[in-house]
Amino acid sequence: MLNTLKNRFEQGCRTSAYPKTTIELPARYRGQPRVHAEASFELAAECAAACPQHAIDAERKLIDLGRCVFCGTCERLSEGRFVSFSRNFELAVAKKDHLLTGGELPSLAEHAKKHFKKLFGRSLQLRQVSAAGCNACEADLNVLATPFFDLARFGINFVASPRHADGIVVTGPVSRNMKTALLQTYEATPAPKVVIAVGSCALSGGPFHGSPEIAESLDRLLPVDLYIPGCPPAPADQSACPADLLQVIEYFRLNIEYLRSAFGESILK
Ligand code: SF4
Repeated sequence: MLNTLKNRFEQGCRTSAYPKTTIELPARYRGQPRVHAEASFELAAECAAACPQHAIDAERKLIDLGRCVFCGTCERLSEGRFVSFSRNFELAVAKKDHLLTGGELPSLAEHAKKHFKKLFGRSLQLRQVSAAGCNACEADLNVLATPFFDLARFGINFVASPRHADGIVVTGPVSRNMKTALLQTYEATPAPKVVIAVGSCALSGGPFHGSPEIAESLDRLLPVDLYIPGCPPAPADQSACPADLLQVIEYFRLNIEYLRSAFGESILK
């Protein structure tokens, strides 16, 4: 017991001070993409053809963040002249249409004020459903409970039963095998309830889009209230630590941006 207390005292507080302080992101972090409208159509078309997710609309010069896996191909190919990635990690949107963007994303404030605060006050209990995810999104959601990120300090907790939850967080592309379990979990959650889609797979099917093993897209099955884009970086060419950190930072969108808009800055001070 004394040793434990001694250790805790020596280690001090390990919880991030974000959002009071900014977070140092790794140099290779890719956040919100910026589309440079002045780029030529030929360059945009070249990027669109190379995009593995078919996420680029070359005609309108837009990127679908629901499909984008942040691989960086378009930025490399255009040398930043058509697409460049900023370090903004607050990408959550309330409407799927908003995922198709030239770089700007609407504020969540109005939607959140009307929706989340009214329904849940300062406490949000969530049940996570992995609808055939690869476990990258799931692992990073799990990390939010660790002392550094400490999701509970914002009043958000993951709970074991949907009957104790205010909503569900869905990851994965919704396979045919998981469709029933997903719908039953949603049904078991008492109303009012929210649905939060996390990751490219939940938003659009991701790399599994079009597979016969995938059921309907999540937003056709359930009323999604919050879309959180992103996909885990490829581990082969990224060092392990930044890769993990990046994804965890991604999920700060879930607690930080949404809570800030829902409850105002005061709760975060
Ligand atoms: S970063 Fe996104 S838009 Fe660009 S090529 Fe990769 S998947 Fe496509």
